[in-house]
Amino acid sequence: MTNPNGNGTNLAELERRAAERGPVYGEGAHVVCDNLVRIYKGDGVEVVALQGLDLLVEQGEMIALVGASGSGKSTLLNILSGLDLPTAGVARVGGMDLLEMKARERLRFRRKEVGFVWQQTARNLLPYLTTAQNVALPMRLAGRKRRERAERAGELLELLGVADLGPRRPAELSGGERQRVAIAVAVANSPSVLLADEPTGELDTTGSLEVFEALREVNRELGTTTVVVTHDDEVAERVDRTVRIRDGRTSTEIRRPSGEGGAREEYSVLDRAGRVQLPREFTESLGMKDRVRLTLETDHLGVWPDGTERR
Ligand code: ADP
Ligand code: MG
Repeated sequence: MTNPNGNGTNLAELERRAAERGPVYGEGAHVVCDNLVRIYKGDGVEVVALQGLDLLVEQGEMIALVGASGSGKSTLLNILSGLDLPTAGVARVGGMDLLEMKARERLRFRRKEVGFVWQQTARNLLPYLTTAQNVALPMRLAGRKRRERAERAGELLELLGVADLGPRRPAELSGGERQRVAIAVAVANSPSVLLADEPTGELDTTGSLEVFEALREVNRELGTTTVVVTHDDEVAERVDRTVRIRDGRTSTEIRRPSGEGGAREEYSVLDRAGRVQLPREFTESLGMKDRVRLTLETDHLGVWPDGTERR
């Protein structure tokens, strides 16, 4: 086995760590990131964009990824889409290992397994093709028959609420309409995963909500596992799970068990070294800093501000 980034030195170490963990981590999850690392190198400068990121997404789940600019969200999506390779760690989608894949498998993976929507609405569609032709194009590349292509393009445009826009070209559409067409293009070949990197970043509130609803509809109707990066809190509020990335690691997550209006529960990743990141609002509101006192109770752990009395 060779490391695709030519960095073979810590391979033994990685294998040792993988063996230590055993095969169970993320078993059954559709997207698995285990201790994912991505280091960009250039001009003698190294940027550690991902530093041991863990993430599991279940089949058919839809999650939002949030985090400050530069926290590694796009890096993660580029890896999951097969466009970029991690430096170390494990990344699997639908049981396929993104580090082990050969060039041919990778191409197939990118064409059939994942759909991608970019933030820049102009980047998702070819300007000289009509909407219907844009949606049919990936199916043509996959060798599907003309009639089948036209039929599915029609169905998808219908599902995304842009059925009457088939004959128009991208320049004749609003930003929100372009993004909905882009989603149709992304799922044309029935990928198991849909990845969207700030798909509403260029849109106003109404456009954002429409595009987000379209993603939800695709997730619900087609069962496509969906990961959406967003800056928009209003958008992030509308999924069952929001995962926050901080400094190239998953830190906290919020679950809303019954979707909108459900009781909000805060979770944090517990890594194999026992590290937990506490939400900043929690620690700040109790003035926790530098050190906390821990107690083991029968069914939970207590975390107390340093200096508080034992009760
Ligand atoms: P986000 O999408 O959360 O804003 P990115 O994944 O784009 O964050 O970037 C994470 C970090 O990696 C940033 O510090 C960014 O400057 C750096 N980075 C991203 N792409 C490259 C690249 N091609 N070369 C060097 N550094 C990069
Ligand atoms: Mg980004």
